[in-house]
Amino acid sequence: MKRKINVQFISLTVVAVLITVIFSTLVDYALLKREIVGDLQVYAETMKEMGSFENVKEISSAGKDRGLRITLIDNRGNVQYDTEADISKMDNHTDREEISEAFRKGAGQAVRHSETIGKSTIYYAILMDNGNVLRVAKDTRSIEGILFSALPYMLFIILVVVAVSVVLTRLLTRSIIRPIDEMAQQINSQDLKSVYKELRPFVSTIQKQHEDILRTAQMRQEFTANVTHELKTPLTAISGYAELIENGMASEQDVARFSGEIHRNANRLLILINDIIRLSELDASSLEITFEMLDLHQLAGHCVELLKVNADRHRVRLVLEGNSSRINCNPEMINELMYNLCDNAIRYNNEGGSVSMTTGVDEKGDAFFEVQDTGIGIPKDSQDRIFERFYRVDKSRSKSTGGTGLGLAIVKHIVVQLHAVLELESEPGIGTRIRVTFPEK
Ligand code: ADP
Repeated sequence: MKRKINVQFISLTVVAVLITVIFSTLVDYALLKREIVGDLQVYAETMKEMGSFENVKEISSAGKDRGLRITLIDNRGNVQYDTEADISKMDNHTDREEISEAFRKGAGQAVRHSETIGKSTIYYAILMDNGNVLRVAKDTRSIEGILFSALPYMLFIILVVVAVSVVLTRLLTRSIIRPIDEMAQQINSQDLKSVYKELRPFVSTIQKQHEDILRTAQMRQEFTANVTHELKTPLTAISGYAELIENGMASEQDVARFSGEIHRNANRLLILINDIIRLSELDASSLEITFEMLDLHQLAGHCVELLKVNADRHRVRLVLEGNSSRINCNPEMINELMYNLCDNAIRYNNEGGSVSMTTGVDEKGDAFFEVQDTGIGIPKDSQDRIFERFYRVDKSRSKSTGGTGLGLAIVKHIVVQLHAVLELESEPGIGTRIRVTFPEK
């Protein structure tokens, strides 16, 4: 990249120098030509005013001293007099551009390249009162000649400019690349103020992504540690009870009890593993969700039926309220959402309490369902955290009621996947209300 910038910068400066030199030479040459033509015109007009040929001759020799060539041509185009050439060898001049123009308009001018390279001659011709044409000419350097003589200077300037631009590009590329180099070494501690303005959005995006990657890695690590811990407890219990039975250290009554414990813990493991698998499925970016028209009220009815026995066991009254509301959604995911929220509302309830499951359409016209309980409630500072994996307010209550600590993490994932909105209101000792709304797109 540095090399590319160097090459481009140098080529640019060389082109700029060339254009400047050529353009200024052209302008110089045009000015020079105008000046010479002006001089020649003054000479020619003075001579015309003198009138007589003798006077012309006199002035001509003065003009010759100043490097001017003077020619007198009669009205048929034959050369009568020339300060430089032998007139007997000169051909008819009627077809010369400046002469014919002078015959036609009274005055004419032309520039012609001479055989000698790098030279050109500027002519100015004027029609005299007696019908003859007087021509004044001056040799000057041609445009190529001027360019050619400027060549050494031009090369010198190019060399100097290239040398300066090499140093400048080096400084420039260094200042562009330095923050990128620094960033590559210590992306997170890179101070945004020390980076130039144009690079700041890039640095802040990279920093955010880097922080996200670190956070995700840390979450994964914590999750793995938690999973290991959660799996270990029931496995240790299973292994312990099995060992007691194996060694014959359990009475017949104990065997039945221990087997029950083994069964309970194995079930716990199964539920935990199911939840972990479900979470990783929902995590997968390639998750395909199929949609179909559903009635939330009907699905809520099934959920209430399914959890009725559970509610009775906890001595909690479970009721279905509201009315039909149809949405286009994935039925398995809605069932899972309703089940998890309703199950929690029963498990974290008080004996004699109640749970109501309501469905309907809100004032904005969006379908929703709501689970409200008269349970133990959730303290304010835990309300954001309960959706984290394995976060529980009261660990022993969660475990004793068969919780894994993953139910609400699954709920949160599904809500995100369905582009739904979850609202939670809870007051410890009074109860909890969770509403899931499905905004129309
Ligand atoms: P768990 O399997 O422990 O129930 P969840 O992820 O479903 O895990 O819930 C996380 C925690 O949030 C629970 O342990 C409990 O402390 C709290 N919680 C969830 N729902 C309710 C509720 N309806 N009332 C009171 N606390 C609740």
